[in-house]
Amino acid sequence: MPFNQNSSQHSPKNRCFEFGNNLIVLMDSTVSAFLPTQYGEFKIFSFPSVEHPNYPDIALVSGELNAQQSILLRMHSECLTGDVFASKRCDCGQQLTASLDFIAKHGGIFIYLRQEGRGIGLHSKIKAYHKQELGMDTVEANTELGFLPDQRDYSAAVNILNYFGIRQVQLLTNNPDKIHALELAGIQIMDRIPLVIASNPYNDHYLKTKRDKMGHLLPHQDL
Ligand SMILES: [Zn+2]
Repeated sequence: MPFNQNSSQHSPKNRCFEFGNNLIVLMDSTVSAFLPTQYGEFKIFSFPSVEHPNYPDIALVSGELNAQQSILLRMHSECLTGDVFASKRCDCGQQLTASLDFIAKHGGIFIYLRQEGRGIGLHSKIKAYHKQELGMDTVEANTELGFLPDQRDYSAAVNILNYFGIRQVQLLTNNPDKIHALELAGIQIMDRIPLVIASNPYNDHYLKTKRDKMGHLLPHQDL
């Protein structure tokens, strides 16, 4: 099990982390509260930054984390259209619900990172959708708008893991970039748990592009 129900409550120290992009995370301002959900019961932690005091990164913790053991982890980047509106253009919403369901059952931590649209922001993401309707794929559209295909940065998640003292994880992901980012930060990946999500007619081209151009691990997709 990734957590120990009998372990003592983690005792994170108040710290302040500086990101490579000069974002200062106000670890001293971190607050937590009980959050019952349709998936199960979590404790929600808010991690505001100086730059975005009202737009904090979020951690949802199920069970009591025992940092001496490998912890079940999902790092999920915000996708308003997928997460909130259940858009079928991507697989984010289904990955979110599958992860929360799994972590609620087995214990672990779900980290929600505020980097909408693979880091380009919501307005630019809708612009990219429009370009895709003109024939571009998701990578071509982001590049046309002057962005990298994937602008995400996982340093905020690493800082949150450090806050809880987590050094070893079982990672719920299909994205090798997340594995590399954590390994570079000294977090050990003990296991990768794939998120098996069926494609639909609206997102199979998008998933194929993620597999073929971005190296996402989607062997379960018959694309
Ligand atoms: Zn999405």
